Amino acid sequence: MHTLRILPDLRSSVVESMPAGQELLFTSRRTDADAALLARPDVRPFTWRALRHALRDPDLEVLEVAEPLWLGEWRRAVRCIAAAKAVRVLRRRPVAVATYAIENADARERLPTRAGRLRLGLSLLLLDAIVFGTTGASENYLRTFGWALRRVRHTVLTPQLDACSVCPPTTAPREPVVLFLGTPSERKGFPTLMRAWELTGAADRGWRLVVADPSGAASGDLPAAVSVTVDPPRPAVHELLRTSAVVAMPSVRRPGWREQIGLPLVEGLTHGCRVVTTPETGLAPDLLDHPLVFFTEPGDAESLADGLRRAMDGRSGVTSGPPGHTKTDVVAWWRASENALATREPCHAELRRTR
Ligand SMILES: [Zn+2]
Repeated sequence: MHTLRILPDLRSSVVESMPAGQELLFTSRRTDADAALLARPDVRPFTWRALRHALRDPDLEVLEVAEPLWLGEWRRAVRCIAAAKAVRVLRRRPVAVATYAIENADARERLPTRAGRLRLGLSLLLLDAIVFGTTGASENYLRTFGWALRRVRHTVLTPQLDACSVCPPTTAPREPVVLFLGTPSERKGFPTLMRAWELTGAADRGWRLVVADPSGAASGDLPAAVSVTVDPPRPAVHELLRTSAVVAMPSVRRPGWREQIGLPLVEGLTHGCRVVTTPETGLAPDLLDHPLVFFTEPGDAESLADGLRRAMDGRSGVTSGPPGHTKTDVVAWWRASENALATREPCHAELRRTR
């Protein structure tokens, strides 16, 4: 093992895209995380004993902790970093401390007091390297903690968007289906989607909307041609993604919450679906020219109906767009930047630094 990842809120897609040589200790998990994936020997529940044991691995190079603006997890992350630094002294070998950051809700809103921001900024100095998953997250952290980030190596590596890590490539025809992945909540734009669906005249056009809802919360009167599948297993989710034309993720900002990346957006694009979304995802600045992404106004049913029409009428088979970076690329950047520091040489030329 060369990377140890301490992870809250484990979900199936994290295990599917785990890089080789990584061990994962999860502090909490999604209820819909696939039990078969969690049976792997390198995926285990977090305990302090498991952490101590993992930190003694002579091949360990990188400890990855939760991002600092995940405020409910950061206290534990700081204790994990302290443990790693102590082992570093005892082993006389470096263990780099890194994080992957995607928080898109304004840091000043998350931490309204100056003292709180100062405390968090100082604790950022415990990190050796940060990879931001979106330009939105990078700008968010730099706006508030730029003074601290001058002392931490950091870059932006957007997620892989050009291929699913599980499914083989397919050119099978798409059905006229719009897929909504996730709990049908207000912040995920579900009420807006229901209004937009009726505005499009979807049922008359032969379109269908499938809601893949892990919670079973979708209820009440749904418009025509809308069906719900409750907590589908992962193979069924991949199947839906391979056969649907469009994924809808019309996120709406709420107090204290803003879409970070949005798994439905990433999973839609990696399966070649067209995606209808809003500028609320932190990836929006990175996707402005993506041929499969259609932006609409958050909370605006007319705009979303127009976006759905454009996406459903769009051409199939257009797949060009930024390929993005796998989790293996992220770990490679951390390891390369750590080695560069140790040898005082520049980082790997292909993995750019923002500043
Ligand atoms: Zn897939």
